[in-house]
Amino acid sequence: MLQKTSHFMRQANLINGEWVQADSGATIDVTNPATGLKLGTVPKSGKAETRRAIEAAESAFQTWRKTSALERSNLLRKLHQAIMDNQQPLAELLTSEQGKSLTEAKGEVAISAAYVLWFAEEARRTYGDVVPSPWRDRRILVTKEPTGVVAAIAPWNFPSSMLSRKIAPALAAGCTAVVKPASQTPYSGLAWGVLCDEVGFPKGTVNVITGSAGEIGDELCGNPLVKKLTFTGSTEVGKMLMAKCAATVKKVSMELGGNAPFIVFDDADIDRAVEGAMVAKYRNSGQTCVCTNRFFVQEGVYDTFVEKLAAASDKLKVGPGLEEGTQQGPLIDEKAVEKVEELIADATSKGGKVVTGGKRHKLGGSFFEPTVIAGARPEMKFMKEEIFGPVAPVFPFKTEEEAVALANDTEFGLASYFYTRDLGRTVRMMEALKYGMVGVNEGLITTVEAPFGGVKESGVGREGGHQGIEDYLDTKYVCIGGLGA
Ligand code: NAP
Repeated sequence: MLQKTSHFMRQANLINGEWVQADSGATIDVTNPATGLKLGTVPKSGKAETRRAIEAAESAFQTWRKTSALERSNLLRKLHQAIMDNQQPLAELLTSEQGKSLTEAKGEVAISAAYVLWFAEEARRTYGDVVPSPWRDRRILVTKEPTGVVAAIAPWNFPSSMLSRKIAPALAAGCTAVVKPASQTPYSGLAWGVLCDEVGFPKGTVNVITGSAGEIGDELCGNPLVKKLTFTGSTEVGKMLMAKCAATVKKVSMELGGNAPFIVFDDADIDRAVEGAMVAKYRNSGQTCVCTNRFFVQEGVYDTFVEKLAAASDKLKVGPGLEEGTQQGPLIDEKAVEKVEELIADATSKGGKVVTGGKRHKLGGSFFEPTVIAGARPEMKFMKEEIFGPVAPVFPFKTEEEAVALANDTEFGLASYFYTRDLGRTVRMMEALKYGMVGVNEGLITTVEAPFGGVKESGVGREGGHQGIEDYLDTKYVCIGGLGA
């Protein structure tokens, strides 16, 4: 049923099927990054509320784990339908708190729904094995069981879809969840509570808590009832949470930072590469973990690529996300703008040349101009640091070996992209890049059917694909003996 945006904007937490305030009554303000104005508040919950949510999830788990795969699948299909029926209001809510263009927000809501449908389908395929036994009188079975209560912590850049990849496989596997959205974008996370509640998931199956990250995080990581933590966010926080989960040996999935290289060889289709570069750089105003952080372009096409990328960047329409035709919204906050300014200042002080953009947008607030920087060099900060903004540094290179060495010279290993028309080089490159994901002549590769995730300090585990449900299942080996020879 189609609802209004206000229907989904809950200024309360969902614990055991009840919409409640923090025990202390304290709240956090939520701001619209396009206007700087307050949108509303959410509860500032802490340890006690989190513990109650975990206990509710544990109690719900005792029933939910016994449902059949078909029952779970059918309910998830209803959830998928409810999301698609409400794509517009959910997207408007997302844009209001996050800033991205309404077109991108609608895309994010659609992919959230697509993950739900995908895992509704995968719920029915969590096969075990019957293994040939080395003994005549015994049989060996391998079964899959839901892991238990899952804690899910999400970032602000994709406040809907990052939760979809966690909630959907958890519910599909037979797990229950306690969800913590980012404080800057809590409403899209709370909307998951509204939707799950309204399509009929039993109370306590999905709980949503907002508030003090440290307190909530400590309880989620320390409480032995939580059997798995799934986190998307910065590498710094991810490492800390992994360490905290060690005390109770929880399973963890970590989707962390990236430092994506985008390599363009002399033999590439340059127009296609520029088209891919625009999506891989400027989606969500450059605030995605798979956004290109470093462009590496071979000498023969360097000038042409820079010129075409700058021309395309110039044409991007920057504006409030809800305004018709907007392609790039504001950055999330003032801190993000300052970080981008610092990186540009560092680059120009080391010889980088701003070809286009380079400063705050005339719209003010946290709007920033799409920026291209030529003459990028490895000693500049964005060689190692995540930019998380609309800045495209372009590094020149001479040989394939040099490109591989530069691309892999980072502790991160999430997404990577390269453009070439040479088949041999394609295979060499896809094997040489130490990344969890590789786009070959493609700048936008995320899809529910494929496993999303990184290597090195970009994380552990995969979301999406048939692999995406595995992290929510425990494997059990059963040996049945005494069967007679
Ligand atoms: P963040 O600062 O790490 O925050 C992510 C989440 O962790 C938020 O909900 C935050 O809560 C929470 N958090 C912060 N400190 C915590 C603590 N001590 N205990 C428990 N939770 C805590 O990251 P972000 O700035 O929101 O997101 C940007 C980062 O996410 C980038 O590095 C980006 O690359 C990464 N990312 C990765 C993927 C991927 O799939 N690999 C996808 C998207 C984003 P509060 O909001 O309340 O502080």
